[in-house]
Amino acid sequence: MADYYELLGVARTASPDEIKRAYRKRARELHPDANPGDQAAEERVKQVARAYEVLSDPDLRARYDRYGEAGVGGAASGPNIGDMFGGGGLGDLFDAFFGGGAGPFGGRGPAGPPRGQDLEVVADISLEQAVFGATMPVSVRTATRCDDCAGTGAAEGTRPVTCSECNGRGQVQRVRQSLLGQMVTTSACPRCGGAGEVIASPCRTCGGDGRVVTEKTYQVDIPAGVDTGSTLRLTGRGAVGPRGGGAGDLYVHIRVAGHERFRRDGDDLVCELPVSIAQASLGARFTLSTLDGDEEVIVPPGTQPGREFVLRGKGVTRLQSRGRGDLRVQVRVEVPTKLTDAEADLLRRFAEGRGEHVIHEQGFLSRIKSAFS
Ligand code: ZN
Repeated sequence: MADYYELLGVARTASPDEIKRAYRKRARELHPDANPGDQAAEERVKQVARAYEVLSDPDLRARYDRYGEAGVGGAASGPNIGDMFGGGGLGDLFDAFFGGGAGPFGGRGPAGPPRGQDLEVVADISLEQAVFGATMPVSVRTATRCDDCAGTGAAEGTRPVTCSECNGRGQVQRVRQSLLGQMVTTSACPRCGGAGEVIASPCRTCGGDGRVVTEKTYQVDIPAGVDTGSTLRLTGRGAVGPRGGGAGDLYVHIRVAGHERFRRDGDDLVCELPVSIAQASLGARFTLSTLDGDEEVIVPPGTQPGREFVLRGKGVTRLQSRGRGDLRVQVRVEVPTKLTDAEADLLRRFAEGRGEHVIHEQGFLSRIKSAFS
């Protein structure tokens, strides 16, 4: 196949914009409607489309510049070029492009070898990281492109050659006579397995697969507000496909660890504030250590157990909207379990003053205790 730059009629130094303009111009000239029934024009269209697909992608372009066609997964005459356009034929191709919609060039085109696997990994994060977001390394065992053959699978100095069985189409047609006349069946080429090309001498590093298994670490941006069950999708960070095929996606499942003091309730955080009976009765000031630093909480006189104080905006960052939830501080009144004689005395006098009945004898108290334990 001719040089991609020549096909588009641009210099090797052409900017992305120049490449795009050149492609539109070529595509218009070669449009099927302008060349009805012209087989050569149709072939040309495929080549131009392939050239544009490669040169419009910075990564593919760099590989093409370095390794030629072999570095970008084979020639345009390969079997998958039709699939790239959803099998809708070349007319659809142009409609999609000129219609300005999300055409076949907007996304990752499945042209050429099959795309690699999607991968999944679990990221364990702390509550603090969930509340404020974080960047953290995530390691995954994956398949990456073999550098020794640039993903082609062909040994150094060699290139995959067009399959002689199917002439690069990847499909073979068989005609047989039946009772009802001629039957034509199409199947994947048995020689190249549908790839359209074969590797005569496979790369020693990857055995012809074009991939090697490696442990990769990605720095993943965890957005503030995620929770256990949230999943992040990192497009193109999955395993690469064989023989220069595109990469799948990496799914990062978030798991948020429990926290010793804070519990999450939607976008709110909830914590307990232990308060003594004296503090609940008479009121007190507390310094509460929150995820945002120390906050003062004033418990007014006569505070009941379970009363909630709300610190606005000190909760979890809202993932779907703006702002943050609240921090809800719940009062837990702690009744002392051990009293000194002097303390017991004070409380008895307190009760007597209010006309409340309390137990006086120590012996009776210990009998009650043992009955309940
Ligand atoms: Zn290799």
